Amino acid sequence: MDFSSDFLMTINGQLVSATRSIDVVNPAKGLPFASAPAASAEDLDRAVAAAKAAFPAWRATPIETRRALLIQAADAIGAHADDLARLFVLEQGRPFEAAKGEILQTAYWIKATAALNLPSEVTEDTATRRIEVHHEPLGVVCAIVPWNFPVLLASWKIAPSLLTGNTLVLKPSPFTPLCTLKIGELLRDIFPPGVMNVISGGDDLGPMMTAHPGFAKISFTGSTATGKRVMESASRDLKRITLELGGNDAAIVLPDVDVDQVAEQLFFGAFFNTAQICVATKRLYIHEDIYDRLRDRLHAIAQTVTVGDGAEQGSVLGPVQNAQQYRRVLDLIDDARAKGLTLLEGKAVPEGGGYFIPITLVDNPPENSRVVVEEAFGPVLPLLRFSDIDDVVARANDTDYGLAGAVWSQDIDLAVSIAHRLETGTVWINHNLQSTPDTPLAGHKQSGFGVENGVPGLLEFTQPKAIYIPKAAAAE
Ligand code: NAD
Repeated sequence: MDFSSDFLMTINGQLVSATRSIDVVNPAKGLPFASAPAASAEDLDRAVAAAKAAFPAWRATPIETRRALLIQAADAIGAHADDLARLFVLEQGRPFEAAKGEILQTAYWIKATAALNLPSEVTEDTATRRIEVHHEPLGVVCAIVPWNFPVLLASWKIAPSLLTGNTLVLKPSPFTPLCTLKIGELLRDIFPPGVMNVISGGDDLGPMMTAHPGFAKISFTGSTATGKRVMESASRDLKRITLELGGNDAAIVLPDVDVDQVAEQLFFGAFFNTAQICVATKRLYIHEDIYDRLRDRLHAIAQTVTVGDGAEQGSVLGPVQNAQQYRRVLDLIDDARAKGLTLLEGKAVPEGGGYFIPITLVDNPPENSRVVVEEAFGPVLPLLRFSDIDDVVARANDTDYGLAGAVWSQDIDLAVSIAHRLETGTVWINHNLQSTPDTPLAGHKQSGFGVENGVPGLLEFTQPKAIYIPKAAAAE
């Protein structure tokens, strides 16, 4: 299989082109290097019809068989990690090793999700009756994915949908469709035709999908603004929805940390993947006793980290992924500069057409500045001074977002007590960016609706069914 060209959709087990196409831009160059099919309304209808036709047989397939096929799918992805990672670098921008890390993580995640079990319960078992609650698949799932972790986040939808007996139409972001299209091609011989369909397209395709009456469920990862549109569209026919949305995560650093030891972890907890991570630290609250030392340490790290083309040796962080996001992050930095805030810049970045922005730290901006209030989703990070725990908890919670947060301290009990006070779905103590396939990820407030991962994540793809069995009937 050629991973460098012939990007086609997978519909009903067939590779399909489209009459229109979209350009895919290499963010390190700012230039198109490939094109992907732009699905039409008819292509979408065909994909939904194929998924619908495949549903009865797939839901009747024993879960052990579905599990085994998911494991085969994971192995197929893992076996092509190098090919996929090379393509990933070109479309997403991340340096090769970290790109390959996402592909391998995807294979791991699919296997680990395949190992989960759907619970069924007995809520009553008396002399006269037995009540069983089973979890049944919903039908055809519409899966919509962003560009920051395009492959891993697709697997968070593929594995639970298919394990629970649903069929799927998956749409990658228009900015990063290529690896996902190749994965569709890789897996088309593993799953029966129609079980997993992959379609790509431009800005019109997402809204067409969420409005399509053939879907029973929408599993969406993306921005809060788009999530609200998805919810509105889903309301027309009460489609089930799971929304994993934006964040403005606070990390709180207490004065007892070893500054030299934690600085690098804090740095990459904010800037890995060029800070384009929903659960990255986006506001770093530092106790006043260590503020200056930690700020200077972070600035020193920023001056050593190479931001460059992910395809070149030595690049640690890549470009911002797309022109729209590049302009948005530059706008936030310009706003901070115009307000007279102090900006601390990292190492110089390549010039030319690529979407490169130097790592930028903002030295103790006011709490109401745009760079603090808005989700930057790019390499600019406000450092904020605090002196009092109640005050910093209130500031950390003073946002419409509630995805994740972190507390850094040698006093684990104190850190845990602060963790309980943060209004977020996840809190890390002395760590960042961890997640496991067994643990639910759920956005609080406007960071989400519903849950991904773990058994609660599986249940989002199912409908509970209670069956009341009279004992006489049960005995027959
Ligand atoms: P986005 O909302 O612009 O796009 C996400 C996806 O939705 C893309 O595939 C896009 O084509 C599609 N889309 C756009 N408009 C649509 C519409 N009206 N209806 C249906 N689909 C539509 O987000 P993005 O810029 O691709 O991703 C960055 C955002 O995603 C950030 O806010 C980030 O925090 C969030 N994110 C959240 C998580 C999480 O797990 N909570 C994970 C990764 C990213």
